[in-house]
Order: sequence, then C-alpha cells, then structure tokens
Amino acid sequence: MLATQIISANIASAPAMGRARRSLWLLPLLASVVFVVGVLAWAYSADRFDREERRATLITDALSSEAQLRARLDIEYAHLEDLGRSLKKMPRTRSALGSNIDVTDGLRRLWLSVTWLDSNNRIIAHVPDQMPLASLQVGDIADGPGLSSHLTINVGDDKLVVRYSPTLLLRKGIPWWLTRKYDLQLVDSSEQIIASLDETPLRLDSVGRESYKVVVGGNMPGAYLELTLRETPKPFWRTLPIVLICGFLLLMLVATTLLRRQVRQISRAEGAWRTEAAWRQAMEDSALVGLRARDAQGRILYVNRTFCDMVGLPPERLIGLMPPMPYWPPDAIDEVMLRNQRNLAGNAPREGYEALWCHQDGRRLNVMVFESPLIDAYGQQTGWMGSIIDITARKQLEERERHQAEAMAYQSRLTTLGEVASALAHQLNQPLTAIMGYNMGMQRMLTDAGYGNQAVINALKQQGDQAAEAGKIVKRIREFLTRRAPQRESSDLMLIARRAVELVQRDLSKQHIQVQWAEPAHLPMVCADPILMEQVLINLIRNAADAMSHGQGHAPEESVGGTIRITASRSSERFVRMDVEDNGPGLNGRAVEQLSAPFYSTKADGMGMGLAICRSVIEVHHGGMDAGESNLGGARFSFTLPVFDAQLQEDSLAAEDARASLEAML
Ligand code: ADP
Repeated sequence: MLATQIISANIASAPAMGRARRSLWLLPLLASVVFVVGVLAWAYSADRFDREERRATLITDALSSEAQLRARLDIEYAHLEDLGRSLKKMPRTRSALGSNIDVTDGLRRLWLSVTWLDSNNRIIAHVPDQMPLASLQVGDIADGPGLSSHLTINVGDDKLVVRYSPTLLLRKGIPWWLTRKYDLQLVDSSEQIIASLDETPLRLDSVGRESYKVVVGGNMPGAYLELTLRETPKPFWRTLPIVLICGFLLLMLVATTLLRRQVRQISRAEGAWRTEAAWRQAMEDSALVGLRARDAQGRILYVNRTFCDMVGLPPERLIGLMPPMPYWPPDAIDEVMLRNQRNLAGNAPREGYEALWCHQDGRRLNVMVFESPLIDAYGQQTGWMGSIIDITARKQLEERERHQAEAMAYQSRLTTLGEVASALAHQLNQPLTAIMGYNMGMQRMLTDAGYGNQAVINALKQQGDQAAEAGKIVKRIREFLTRRAPQRESSDLMLIARRAVELVQRDLSKQHIQVQWAEPAHLPMVCADPILMEQVLINLIRNAADAMSHGQGHAPEESVGGTIRITASRSSERFVRMDVEDNGPGLNGRAVEQLSAPFYSTKADGMGMGLAICRSVIEVHHGGMDAGESNLGGARFSFTLPVFDAQLQEDSLAAEDARASLEAML
C-alpha cells in the first residue's frame, strides 16, 4: 500500500520535474538578462553618486575659490589704503606717486595703473606713464587687452583709483590645481565675461559641462565667480561595454561548462538509450509472441517482427492502420469488427481469446490474443497492448490427433468385428456342419427306407441347402471384414512404439504414468505393417495403464502413478522382440492363451477382444506372442517379429499377388 502511494507520488511529481528540466535551457538567458539589468542599475546608481559627489566638490571648490579671491582683493584694498595714508604727506606729483613703494609693489603684483584724482575728478598723477585717457571714470574699461576692474578709495577730497587685471587676480588668487580641474571665469550679472582662465572663453564651450556660480561680493560687487568642470562627464552607459564584455565572458565560461556537462550527460543517456533500444529490439524480434500496440481508437501504433511475420506485412504497411485490418478474414469482417469493438471497450477476456487471421499469402492461421491496457509514462491508459501467439500448429496437431483417433477407432471396430465374425464362424461352423451332417443322414435314411413323401424330402434338402448357405454367409462376412491384408514393409519398431506412446501420452500423463525405454544400439528393421503394429502397442500400453489403476482400485482416469517399460531386443538371428512391462497387479498365473481368448475380460466394460486381436495380428506377421511376470512387479507382454529381409519380402509379395489374381478370376 505504502509502496503504491510512493509510486503514485513519484508519478505525480515526475511531470513537474520533467518540466523544470526542460526549462533549464532558459537559465543562461535569464542569467544574462539579470546580469545586464544589474550592471545597468549599478552603473546608473554609481553615476548618480559620482555626479552628486562631483557637484558637492564643485560647490566646495567654488566657495573656497571665491573666499580666496575675496581675501586677495581685501589684501589689495589694504595696500591701497596704506598708499592713501602715505599720499597725504606726499607732494602731488607724478614722480612722487611713481616712486612710492606701495605703488611699485602694487604694479609688480597685479595693479595695472594707479590714478590720483582731485575732487573734480581731474588727474593729479597717473602711473605708469601711458595714460591715453584724459579722464577716467570709475568702471571704465582700461587700456590693454581684456577687461579691467578697479579699486577706489577717497583720500581727503582726492580719490585714488587702482586699476587691476581680474584675469591676473584669478591667476594669482586661485591655486594652480583648481585651474587644472576647472575653467574659471568672472562674469557680471548680465553674463558678460570679466575675466577668464579658459583659453577659449566662449560661453558656448561650456555647454553640457557642469558649472557653479558664486557671488564674489566684497570689493568686487556685482561679479560672479563661475567654475566649470573642464571634463565633460561621460554618460554612465559609456562605462558599460567593458563591464558587460567581462561579465559576458564569465557567463560564457559558466554556460560552456554547463553545456559541456549537459552534452556529456546527453551523450551518456543517448548511449544508454541506444543500448536499451537495441536490447529491447533484439528481445522483441526474437520473441515468439507477436506484439501489437493500439491506441484507444484501435489505430496500430507498434508491431514487432514476429507480428509482421505472422500476417506477412511489413511494419510500415501496418502502423497507422485503423480497423478493419488487412489480416482479418474477409468472410467474417462484421463478426471481427464486433469483437474488436468489445476489446476496445475493455471487455476482452482476461484469459485471452482465439481468433482466425489471414496471412498475406492467403493462408489462414489460428491465433490466441491476450489484450492488456497500454499505460504511458504518466500512468494514463492510452490504448491496448496485444500479445499474439500463433497456435495454428497446435490446432493442426490436435486435429490430426482427433482424425487419427477416429481412424483408429474405426479400424479397431472393423478388426474387432472381423475377429468377432471369425470367432462366430469358428463357433457356428461346428453346429452348422452338424446340422448339415444330420440333414444329409436323415435324407439318406429316409431314401433308404423308401419314404415316399417328396415334400418332406424336399424340405429336408432345402434345410441342408440353407444351412450350407448360412455357413457360406458367415465365411463371407469374415472374409469381407478381415480382407485387409497387412501391408508388410521395412519398419522401425522402436519408432512405431514411440508414435504409439505419443498418441496415448495425454492419458498417461493424466495418470502420472512414466514410460521407460530400453533399446540396443543397432536394432534391425522388422517386416511389419506399421499401422497394425501401432494398434497392437497401443492396446498393450492401455491394458498396462488400466491394470495399474484397476489393480489399485482407482477409476482409470485417476492419477495413480506407475511405470511402463518398453524394451526392444534382438531375440535371435531372424527375430526382434519387444516387451511391454508394468508394475501393476500382474497376471496371477494366467497364460497368454487364456488372456487372448476372444471375449475374455476381467473389466466391467471390457470386451475381451484386445489381446485376441493383438495375437492374431502378430501371428499374421509370422511372429509369436507371450505373457508373464515382469521384474517391475506387474505383467509382461512380449511379441516377436521377423527381421526385414528384402528377398523374402519380394517372394511373399509375388505369392500374394498370385493369390489375389486367382481370387479375382474365380
Ligand atoms: P479387455 O481389455 O477388453 O478386457 P483384453 O483382451 O485386452 O480385453 O484383455 C483381456 C484381459 O487380460 C483383461 O481383462 C485383463 O484381465 C488381462 N490383462 C491384460 N493386460 C493385462 C496387464 N497388463 N496386467 C494384468 N492383466 C492384464
């Protein structure tokens, strides 16, 4: 019960496992998709993180640069204030201004010019010398390339204006490493470039690059410091190819390993399958049983070689066929169709059924068909599997046996009748002869006595004639019934005995009687009629079997066991002897003459003619019969037959021919 549950559970889980295994091929594709999506997500998040970090760094750098710029400007402004203080004690001349240490230092650092203006904005002094403009307004563009800015302080009623280069301010105020990383620009509120550390200070150039603007404030009001990353950040997907290539290489390696394993498994399974298929094919082809698989509608799915040989058709002409089948007998199609429907409905007899089929060459064959359900791998019935056994030979043998038994019974009846007639003739001959003798005597006595009544004399004469006629009739009947002269020929006595045993084997087996054989190496052929000798032996064997069952008080059909020994030997130069012995009750001193007397029988249903016939058959063959005790414990019946001699046979045949032609003439 448990085992059944386990098997059914296995059967149920088998399809799921099979489906999972069949989907295995999808695994590398799924792994690739997961890998690509993973890499994309990773690259995207890494890129976002980078951007944020870059932005934060940019802001920090911008703020720190702005602070440094402002500090630098504050220092310059402090220098200008120092100059302002020293200006009060200085003569209002250009040479005084030009020789001032603060002015020379400032010009060396980043000042472009220093202009001293009076309260009416007229230039008192200007260094350096070149001063193309008569007057300079605050915020004007200074001489030289690029834009300039200025710092202004009031010294009493006068004004001191220092023009400086914002570009120089940027160059000197910003650490070098920042200039490597960023393009730095000073712009005003209308996006006008005041100064730039970029070689190509075009606003367009910075498109797509990351930048940050911070108000400078302090001594440079209205100006902004803008930092733009020199490098355009690469889009995140630009980093993907190499990662993907590496990843795919790895995946390919794994997939190849898996594939190799799979291929090995498949080739191993294929090898095993081939061996099994070849083995099964060999088994099916060598089987004596025809196999036929059909689906639920009766369509043939498979046939083995034995089946094809049985019906004389190749598999390709059978597979796929629906009823009616080409091997059904054409004269019984309707009947077979009904039987086929019964079988497909699952009502075929479990013990099988007999059918008549037709071989392609027209020969009929008897088959025994056993139908069983065809179950597929999932436990479902998909059709019927038929096992077919050709029983034609067995049927023919049975038929032959039946004919033989009938022929034998007929022959035996004829012989028995002949023997009965012979016995009757023998028995009636004496009273008839006596009747005829008395009749003739009475006629003679009446004639001698001068009896004159002719009617009585005639009646007596008629009586004598009728008695003679009766004698002739009996003789003729006997001759008619025993007319078959034995067909003596060279016969193998042992072979005849074996055939006789074969014919009664079924009865002997039922009674569990064993037959033992004993024969010399070179037994000569005997001169005998094989059919008559076969009957003699059958009679002796049956008598032995009867004696063994009767002797033990059993019915003849009951199985009692016993042994019959059949021994052939050469009794003399001219004769072969055969003994049939048993271990039954024996003969109790009865001699063969008594046993073979006509109508002698100790059996309730016995006729008592068997041994009489046997003896006369043996004697007709010029042999002799004997009976006695066997050393098996029962009876022994023996007979002898002459060894076959070709010359002798010819002579006797010639004599028989002469007698037959003489009889025909008479
Ligand atoms: P039936 O078989 O009809 O009796 P048979 O002439 O064949 O006639 O046999 C005559 C009798 O001989 C049998 O009734 C039986 O008493 C005896 N007899 C024949 N064979 C044996 C034997 N093997 N053992 C003992 N008795 C036998």
